[in-house]
Amino acid sequence: MANLVAIVGRPNVGKSTLFNRLTKTRSAIVSDTAGTTRDRQYGKCDWAGREFSVVDTGGWVVNSDDIFEDAIRRQVLVATEEADLVLFLVDVNTGVTDLDEDVAQILRRTKVPVLLVVNKADNNEQIYEAPVFYSLGLGDPFPISAATGSGTGDLLDAVIEKLKPGEAEDVEDGIPRFAVVGRPNVGKSSIINAFIGEDRNIVTEIAGTTRDSIYTRFDKFGFDFYLVDTAGIRRKNKVTEDLEFYSVMRSIRSIEHSDVCILMIDATRGIETQDMNIFQLIQKNQKSLVVVVNKWDLVPDKDQKVIKTFENAIRERMAPFVDFPIIFASALTKQRIFKVLETAKQVYLNRKTHVGTSKLNEIMLPLIEAYPPPSTKGKYIKIKYCTQLPNTQIPSFVFYANLPQYVKENYRRFLENKIRDNWNMHGTPINVFIRQK
Ligand code: GDP
Ligand code: GDP
Repeated sequence: MANLVAIVGRPNVGKSTLFNRLTKTRSAIVSDTAGTTRDRQYGKCDWAGREFSVVDTGGWVVNSDDIFEDAIRRQVLVATEEADLVLFLVDVNTGVTDLDEDVAQILRRTKVPVLLVVNKADNNEQIYEAPVFYSLGLGDPFPISAATGSGTGDLLDAVIEKLKPGEAEDVEDGIPRFAVVGRPNVGKSSIINAFIGEDRNIVTEIAGTTRDSIYTRFDKFGFDFYLVDTAGIRRKNKVTEDLEFYSVMRSIRSIEHSDVCILMIDATRGIETQDMNIFQLIQKNQKSLVVVVNKWDLVPDKDQKVIKTFENAIRERMAPFVDFPIIFASALTKQRIFKVLETAKQVYLNRKTHVGTSKLNEIMLPLIEAYPPPSTKGKYIKIKYCTQLPNTQIPSFVFYANLPQYVKENYRRFLENKIRDNWNMHGTPINVFIRQK
């Protein structure tokens, strides 16, 4: 079971520096096209054989008409509600500030474990200053230097100790888990209500082992699946609902627990940065995808041209991953609601596809022979054999070559496209590895 760690603290204490260190994403801001997620927002950390997710609350835009301190307080509140552990970062050079006191007051009231991290303790004198922060009433301060990495090993040990051990999930194997995700007001609650209707018999709330229950079983009309985190979608919180950070924290939980994400987009608004942010979370977690363009009832001209324009715009934004279904639906009129479920089910099956080795080679080797990897520096590259790895999250293929290091990215893409041409991987990411034979 995935764990979620949130880094909170006022601006300039070093949240983003610590985030980068934990997630090892050196390029803090990757933005080749406008609207691409800044990578400081969400990443994965591996330590002592445990993996957990990290979010940096500083990575989120707050409403421009928000009072700044207030926005920070609300983000901290969200972090305490949604994260499994909070890292509260302060700056040794400034000592305790008023805003630190405010944040500490919120954190002292929460049940979530909090670690008090004193950053910028770059040398011994500064490390000796760390006990000043005992006054915040949050236990032992951890002096670290996010910039040099000193102290972060001890901090990570403490994080792992505080996180709950990976619990077995109380769900039946082999039953797909669908998450409905999207920005606020796109229609998530409405579509879930359209799925399950008022018929209480078709859904069972699973008693969650951690926090509130996260899975709802749906078993009717030839469908059998879990909906992830419907409780979270229904429980709207007036104080924090409008924060982008809130919807993202919720999305992370849903996405991490699902196999297939139903990403909802508002037909009246088109695709925006916030939709892209959620899409990137789906991609980073290697989940399968069905895009639903909701509120289709509100679009006046629904001819083929409008549909094509919509589809192209969406795929263009999400490139290079473009092989996923897009459904135009209305949660309100229930138009194509069952199509959404049928498609999600098919995408789940695609995700579970296993291609036999002999069939794979029979199809792929002639294609490779007809269009071999171009030789580099006079080196002749030969792919001899390929296979699909067993028991992986997503279909993963290995091509064995004499000189894998000379096989370029565009050739790897060629192989991926040929696999997609020959087997139905619609909606699902796949891995293509080139390895030494
Ligand atoms: P954020 O606003 O909380 O995300 O803070 P940043 O990570 O952007 O850091 C603010 C400033 O503090 C930057 O100039 C960083 O280089 C600097 N900084 C971060 N961590 C350390 C540290 O451990 N030691 C020192 N000396 N500076 C740091
Ligand atoms: P959520 O925040 O994503 O859960 O969104 P809600 O399900 O609460 O919907 C937000 C608003 O959009 C509500 O007023 C819904 O009635 C409305 N809405 C949702 N789906 C549709 C739709 O397909 N068509 C129209 N016209 N309105 C919709």
